[in-house]
Amino acid sequence: MRILVVEDEKGIANFIHDGLKEEGFAVDVAGNGILGLELAQTNDYDCLLLDWMLPGLSGIELCRALRKENSSVPIIFLTAKDTVADTVFGLETGANDYIKKPFDFNELLARVRVQIRSAEDGNNILQCNDITLNPDTHQVIKNQKEISLTAKEFSLLEFLLRNKGKVCSRTRIIEHVWDMHFDADTSVIDVYINYLRKKLDPAGEKKYIETIRGAGYIMREWQ
Ligand code: CA
Repeated sequence: MRILVVEDEKGIANFIHDGLKEEGFAVDVAGNGILGLELAQTNDYDCLLLDWMLPGLSGIELCRALRKENSSVPIIFLTAKDTVADTVFGLETGANDYIKKPFDFNELLARVRVQIRSAEDGNNILQCNDITLNPDTHQVIKNQKEISLTAKEFSLLEFLLRNKGKVCSRTRIIEHVWDMHFDADTSVIDVYINYLRKKLDPAGEKKYIETIRGAGYIMREWQ
């Protein structure tokens, strides 16, 4: 899942970036509203975290601009403003949620997960065949046994599971699992898919992740 953070205070931006990355998210950071809007318009993010007061274009203006273009990306405001009127105003511009600074990272993480979840089907536990993934506890279980994955492997599996039954192209995988500093060499995805296959099924007996030639990868229920 890929997140855009638009925040001009470097310390806060780094804190959020590092924390989310550790949780397996792909994270891009913009230090001003204009770059933030540009990135939001060109990439397919799963959630936006917008500071309220930003140089160039405020968080409110950025949010309005995206909603005007009919973008439905979940938007969470980060702000020191905490009066009731400000909250209402922020939500009226089309934001989905609002977090007051200073905030606890776990609170931010929980709010992000709520947004990603409601953008999908409302169920947080992801499952396919005998594999279960819990984004909140970061656990992957197969036949009552936990499978240990790296952050990137976890993130890749989460994306495939969220798209269960649909073919995921390498381009879409890159867009949602890697950040903008990634040099777009799609062969790295094949490498990670192989890591994941080996961890899910060391004996290589079952098809957890199928390759669809010329199209990408899919996870689906066995018939
Ligand atoms: Ca600011």
